[in-house]
Amino acid sequence: MRIVLLGAPGAGKGTQAKKLIEKYAIPQISTGDILRKAVADGTPLGKEAKAVMDRGELVPDKIVLGLVEERLQQDDCKNGYILDGFPRNTAQAEALDTMLASMGAPLTIALSVDVDKDDLMKRLTGRRTCRNCQQMYNVYFSPSGKEGVCDKCSGELIQRNDDKEETIKKRLDVYEAQTAPLIDYYGKKGILKSVSGVGSIDEIFVRVCAALG
Ligand code: AMP
Repeated sequence: MRIVLLGAPGAGKGTQAKKLIEKYAIPQISTGDILRKAVADGTPLGKEAKAVMDRGELVPDKIVLGLVEERLQQDDCKNGYILDGFPRNTAQAEALDTMLASMGAPLTIALSVDVDKDDLMKRLTGRRTCRNCQQMYNVYFSPSGKEGVCDKCSGELIQRNDDKEETIKKRLDVYEAQTAPLIDYYGKKGILKSVSGVGSIDEIFVRVCAALG
């Protein structure tokens, strides 16, 4: 199963992807996670990407496409994968289609997780991520047992630089302008399904699984 997860920042794509990994035993490929790791490791690519990410803008297509192409060729992608946060614009979607056509393995489904804008703001400003294991929490909806500490590994919970209010507004604008058109793009290809991203994580997961069939 080769899945693209669509949805605004904060729609819960990453959370659902983590549950799908377990159910389908396929990897999650999050370009955001890959880029954040490059930033944390201080690689040349990370240095180039950091300022753009902190502003809430998109990293140049050329960089992201190179990362994805390399990742998709790894062994664990043979039985499928979940693309989370990629593609982010039409140019990336077209490049992905070309890439997958040459591999003879087109996308199975594009699944859109839909949440309205007010809810997204609360989810994003309240989001905290474990510095160590990347587990996510939300101070409004799903706090950790002890404030600032990860329930799973006791790591420190941090607010991502791009989860600050100014950056969030920018990220949502970028989403509307550049990423939302992909809903139409995949709709026209006949592989789009949409689910409501409102409710508990488990309720949403039931919808996601039903949509995947
Ligand atoms: P995310 O965790 O998916 O919200 O991504 C965080 C940030 O990483 C975004 O705001 C972008 O700056 C960058 N990023 C992630 N994925 C992409 C992509 N496919 N294309 C361009 N930039 C991306």
